[in-house]
Amino acid sequence: MFTQGIILVAAVLIPVFDIFRFDISELKLYLLRQVWSFAPQGQYMSGAGGDPVNFIFKGIIPFILLFVSLPVWGAVLGRFLCGWFCPVGTIFEIGDFFRRNLIRLKDCRHSSRSENKEPHWAICLYGSLSVILIIIALSIMSIFFAGLIIAPSEIWRQISALELSPLFIATVSGIMILIVGTYFARIAFCSYICLFGITQTIPAIVSPFSLRVGFDTNRSKMCTNCKGCERACFMEIKPRTMVKKVNPKCINCGKCITACEQELGKKNGLFYYSFGRGEIY
Ligand code: SF4
Ligand code: SF4
Repeated sequence: MFTQGIILVAAVLIPVFDIFRFDISELKLYLLRQVWSFAPQGQYMSGAGGDPVNFIFKGIIPFILLFVSLPVWGAVLGRFLCGWFCPVGTIFEIGDFFRRNLIRLKDCRHSSRSENKEPHWAICLYGSLSVILIIIALSIMSIFFAGLIIAPSEIWRQISALELSPLFIATVSGIMILIVGTYFARIAFCSYICLFGITQTIPAIVSPFSLRVGFDTNRSKMCTNCKGCERACFMEIKPRTMVKKVNPKCINCGKCITACEQELGKKNGLFYYSFGRGEIY
């Protein structure tokens, strides 16, 4: 969670530090603090001393290198990068956390139906707070990501003066809808749409030595059927019951490992990381 939090904060700050943004009013692409202007000014490059070759080496090639390295990451670590570093996955996990609390609001209305050990007031409080927090978190994230097409200084000016332009409102609303829509399609998105994910998945499936999460079938009788591993899995895999040797949806996040250790004790869980094909669910 620590690495995911750091990467998510870095991701929302990307436009603030001109790492990547396309300023729609200036028609300029900011990439790694260098500028590619699409305005017809006769001179297309600024930044980096106006040197296009420098721009390509510093701005374009690092992204190409990152992308072509993904199959290698996949062959060695499976979808580890998705599980530990992807900011989109982190947003989905935050959404999942709120969704679980929202679902508990049903128990708040019908206290007699609650199977939870928590006090009734706590369920109601956390459920209600999650409604408020999800709106705040979604708004903040959408405003930051709006910086991808509107200059962050302009966003700050509009918010502080309470003069929200139609472009700002449309952009923030569009990003909110996109985040919510993608969240509901998150399994399909992570498994079949995200190019970064697919680029790692295929080598991870064919690689004979990539990192995977295994289930210790020899000790499976110790399973208490608490279903903690299923609840922890944001990709909605049922880790105990998978029969395939390699599950292409698994992002090696290790949350099932932690959940099982919480139930059975540290170093006593039934899931483990291992390299190679081994005894993998
Ligand atoms: S099966 Fe385990 S490691 Fe794989 S995605 Fe689910 S929780 Fe993460
Ligand atoms: S978390 Fe461990 S003990 Fe609980 S259901 Fe999953 S495998 Fe069984």
